Amino acid sequence: MNNYHQYDIIVVGAGGAGLMSALYASKKASTAVLSKLYPTRSHTGTAQGGVGAALGNIEEDHPEWHTFDTVKGSDYLGDQDAIEFMCSKAVPIVYELEHMGLPFSRTPDGTIAQRPFGGHTNNITGMPVPRACYSADRTGHMILQTLYQQCIKQNVRFYDEFQVLDVLIENGVTAGVVAIELATGELHVFHAKAVIFATGGHGRVWEITSNAYTYSGDGVAITLRRGIPAEDMEFFQFHPTGIYKMGILITEGVRGEGGVLINDEGERFMNTYAPTVKDLASRDIVSRAMYLEMRDGRGINGKRYMYLDMRPETVNKYAAEDGRKRPDGSPYIVTGEEMLSKLPDIVDFARTYLGVDPVTQPMPVQPTAHYAMGGIPTDMYGRVVIDAENTVLPGMYAAGEVGCVSAHGANRLGTNSLLDILVFGKYAGLDAVEYSHKTGFETLPAEPLEFTQQQLEELRSSKGDERASDIGEEMKSVMNDYVGVFRTEDGMSKAVEKVRQLKERFKQVQLGDTSRIFNTELISNWELGNLLDLAEVTAVSALARKESRGAHAREDFPKRDDENWMSHTLVWMRDGKVELDYKPVVITKFEPMERVY
Ligand SMILES: Cc1cc2nc3c(=O)[nH]c(=O)nc-3n(C[C@H](O)[C@H](O)[C@H](O)COP(=O)(O)OP(=O)(O)OC[C@H]3O[C@@H](n4cnc5c(N)ncnc54)[C@H](O)[C@@H]3O)c2cc1C
Repeated sequence: MNNYHQYDIIVVGAGGAGLMSALYASKKASTAVLSKLYPTRSHTGTAQGGVGAALGNIEEDHPEWHTFDTVKGSDYLGDQDAIEFMCSKAVPIVYELEHMGLPFSRTPDGTIAQRPFGGHTNNITGMPVPRACYSADRTGHMILQTLYQQCIKQNVRFYDEFQVLDVLIENGVTAGVVAIELATGELHVFHAKAVIFATGGHGRVWEITSNAYTYSGDGVAITLRRGIPAEDMEFFQFHPTGIYKMGILITEGVRGEGGVLINDEGERFMNTYAPTVKDLASRDIVSRAMYLEMRDGRGINGKRYMYLDMRPETVNKYAAEDGRKRPDGSPYIVTGEEMLSKLPDIVDFARTYLGVDPVTQPMPVQPTAHYAMGGIPTDMYGRVVIDAENTVLPGMYAAGEVGCVSAHGANRLGTNSLLDILVFGKYAGLDAVEYSHKTGFETLPAEPLEFTQQQLEELRSSKGDERASDIGEEMKSVMNDYVGVFRTEDGMSKAVEKVRQLKERFKQVQLGDTSRIFNTELISNWELGNLLDLAEVTAVSALARKESRGAHAREDFPKRDDENWMSHTLVWMRDGKVELDYKPVVITKFEPMERVY
């Protein structure tokens, strides 16, 4: 068969997690990477602010502090063994990337520069600590380019613009994937001992999002269809500072460099909500504070946005008020040139998309759907686990934003995702190698293409009069309104019902383009189907959780409820029905406490 390929390990996705796992897998096993995008167009390349590691280059810092901050930031839902693992590997992995040639920004004495980010603190004083290692505001771009170069150097085999549509599981063991070659429309079977999903997130479920158009949740949707659960889908992070109406991200690094959020009365309102760390509280807290300000009529001009102000005079005023110092003990005073050199892309974005020059004018921002804490359940080695007892599905791995380890629990700290993709990408690659050495190839199912062909045929043959774009817009708007920053029983019930109606209407979407070759309409409809499935499991998981924790804030259950809800949600889609179960959170050192910032 022409379109049959065999590799020990197939990596699906060429972002940071995929490339890191491919780099390690390919050292000791035949490995191929399949990516629907050209690798360097992956969303990792848009990450701006930095990667977290307690190097202590600017101020005292320790991996143990990083661990505690992450546990606290997760609102105690993160699995503490996984968090400790991630934070302890952070320092060596950043140096590893430095040695690969990643051009980090530097301190005057030549070490890797670091800046403060939300929720990262000195555990003794409670004040923000500079822990984000950065390359201006292009950190993800540099990570992606560096890892891609390393993979090329190592002759990793890439199948670019191959979109995976199905995972093959036979006799309870992973056997490979089915992919469509976008240029020809042909289906290919990739027979493998191990498959690593590193397909990124699904922020396109929401209307206002920082996520790329390609963030359609393919990985989670594919595995749900094959009976694998998804974990903690109700926890989706809204980043406080997206460009008003567009959602394009303005990095938290702006606040790390001293920028502040301002309401219509010209007040720096985060003083009230987080008296110690203020604008550098964790993202869930800042996004909620913005909503509350807007609800009380203090949005700018009464509208649903706030100002993010990084003008040097504002930064210097509040830095003096906070007593912020430079590492040499002198007062923290910045100039416009300095802001420009540390945040060049942000200045560019604001000028291009807003017509605002952030060195002289404040930027209008609003919370934007940003990051999936939930995803395919895995252990620390990226192995996919399929029930509340953590039973491993042999040969199946997930790493990066598509996975749920869970290192981020109910809320991720800024800079911890770039860290997550590096650490868990690497260890998934290493474990997959070990597994592939111990095992043979599982036989392929008799008709490996059948399920994929059936899905595509349904999309091609529908004769209804619905438009995919209408359905997509209605889904995004209902999810933004009812499964967004604040949630209620009533709203979420409406969302579940509406998304189910949309799924029915989706069956009536007629395809305009019926050609076989480079049919982007067919693929984008398939992706919309994924988003609808993810919207449904998200809304159902959220409706069931009767408490507020991290990114899941319910007006009808405003308190965290550790007695009843210290557990991860598992959600299945079986015969079109959604089922839920729960599994305990791993607690090692830190008993749940109230979060005060
Ligand atoms: C604007 C923005 C800024 C951010 N800034 C930061 C930051 O400063 N610090 C931080 O820690 N985090 C940041 N994040 C989060 C972080 O960048 C992402 O969570 C992380 O990079 C995701 O990496 P990944 O490897 O999991 O996925 P991605 O980099 O998105 O890669 C996914 C890959 O999967 C492929 N793929 C998807 N579906 C399929 C399919 N069906 N078949 C084949 N291939 C497929 C894609 O082609 C792509 O190669 C930011 C996120 C955004 C959106």
